[in-house]
Amino acid sequence: MPYRPPHLPRRNARQWLLLLLLICLGSGGATAGDKLRLQLRWLHQFQFAGYYMALEKGYYRDAGLDVEILEGGPQALKPVDAILSERSDFAISNSGVVIERMAGKPVVALAAIMQTSPIVWIVRADSGIRTPADLVGKRLMLMPAPESAELLITLRREGIDMGQLNIQPTSFDPQDLIDGRTDAYDGYISNETYWLAQRGVDYRLINPREYGVNFYNDVLVTSERLLRERPQRVAAFVQASLKGWQYALDHQEESLQLIHRRYAPGKSLEHLRFEADALRKLIMSDLVQLGHMNPGRWDAIANSYVQLGMAPGPVNLGGFLYSEHVEQDNRMFYLGGAIALLVILLMATVALRFAALSRALQREINRRQDTEQQLLTSNATLERLANTDRLTGLWNRLKFEEVAQQEVGRAERYGYPLSLVFFDIDHFKEINDRHGHEIGDQVLCRLADRVREHLRDSDSLCRWGGEEFLILMPHTDRQQARQLAEKLRELISASPLLEQQPISASFGIAQLQSGELLRDLVRHADTALYRAKQLGRNRVET
Ligand code: GH3
Ligand code: MG
Ligand code: MG
Repeated sequence: MPYRPPHLPRRNARQWLLLLLLICLGSGGATAGDKLRLQLRWLHQFQFAGYYMALEKGYYRDAGLDVEILEGGPQALKPVDAILSERSDFAISNSGVVIERMAGKPVVALAAIMQTSPIVWIVRADSGIRTPADLVGKRLMLMPAPESAELLITLRREGIDMGQLNIQPTSFDPQDLIDGRTDAYDGYISNETYWLAQRGVDYRLINPREYGVNFYNDVLVTSERLLRERPQRVAAFVQASLKGWQYALDHQEESLQLIHRRYAPGKSLEHLRFEADALRKLIMSDLVQLGHMNPGRWDAIANSYVQLGMAPGPVNLGGFLYSEHVEQDNRMFYLGGAIALLVILLMATVALRFAALSRALQREINRRQDTEQQLLTSNATLERLANTDRLTGLWNRLKFEEVAQQEVGRAERYGYPLSLVFFDIDHFKEINDRHGHEIGDQVLCRLADRVREHLRDSDSLCRWGGEEFLILMPHTDRQQARQLAEKLRELISASPLLEQQPISASFGIAQLQSGELLRDLVRHADTALYRAKQLGRNRVET
């Protein structure tokens, strides 16, 4: 049968991750290194094989545990006392541990190794004693309670009054049975029977099991404190111990050889083999999962103790069984998981909300940037429309006046020459009349383009109105302006602005004089232009 530890929660990777989280949050994780002690309830023998094998096979070490096994015996501390006095962390007890629990001692049962008790009365075959009723009036040995509970409850169930018995304290020596110093010896089915058989003594057993008394035995126990403070260590210890037990049962011969060699050299191999065979029947690992404990059976055992007056009723075993703590641990585990999940969900919701908000914000920023860009573009368009002449694309009069005002101011301030050329197409009315207004428009555009090509960047060309144009020329005196005007005049009359007839223009020039305003400059240039018209057109006048 493959090894399967009972009671321990099986978890997947995600659960372990969550558990790790909880441990990190401070729920008390296992810290390797410090020693764990296990107090046995009797001398070294096969009865504790699983623990030796867990130690020898490294199951404890693999679980990060450093375990020391303390031998028991008549002089050793009672298991529960060993635990509660913190002289050991775990102990092996009989089912009497439930009495201690009912008396308020904080002990927890982790696993029951023996599903039924090995305690029996051994009587001589020639004694005539066959049943509990036959013990009436006889001398019988009894260990102090609760060790003897299984035997006491058997007597009670059989209706035997304690007053009818001659009870002796146990001597731990079966020789007393051989020598006739007692009629019924209380012993282990796995121990003293071997000793008697070795001596050729015929014996019979009065076994409580045959009278319906089924007490757990060799119960692994610990303190509530350790379980609360180090739940992972306790779980690891139980798991490794049960693994050791499975190994011991699967490899009985190897295990008892080892026990003989290392722990119980005083017990012969044959005796250990006898003990192992007897205990196997009580462990029943082929019928019941190793370590299994049934809460109903613990209730029945506890009730038996109440009946014997060894414990106060009513029975309440809350917190006594490890499985309850594991369930609680699991509840905490799932609660922790749920809280972690909730936190993650909350964080995810906040993150999503934040992402949605920042997306909306980005959209709003983009929208505003677009609007701003549109506004800038339409502002630029408006400005262009306000400043330029629709037909030729040259500056209009308004823009010219703005620029020219600045230039006049600057020329005044810095004392450099500023000239103005005023020109007008000759007989333009005729062109319109002869070829139509559209052709007239074409001539205006071509002329504007041609003139623009021959100006400097610092010169400003403007359509003053109709077929009249102005050129403002900073850093240019009258003479230089005249030269440029001559050049333009020749250019216009030489270039085919209109195929059907030659085009010419007349030019008037003025240079800004100190103290003059823009309007004076324009007026002087206009006067010169008028003169050019008067003197026959297609000429330049200053
Ligand atoms: P001059 O040699 O004395 O300058 O004679 P002119 O015919 O050129 O002068 P006038 O002032 O008598 O005529 C100007 C003409 O220019 C009148 C008008 O029809 C025309 N004109 C003004 N603006 C435009 C325009 O935008 N397009 C066209 N096609 N013609 C225009
Ligand atoms: Mg004109
Ligand atoms: Mg004209």
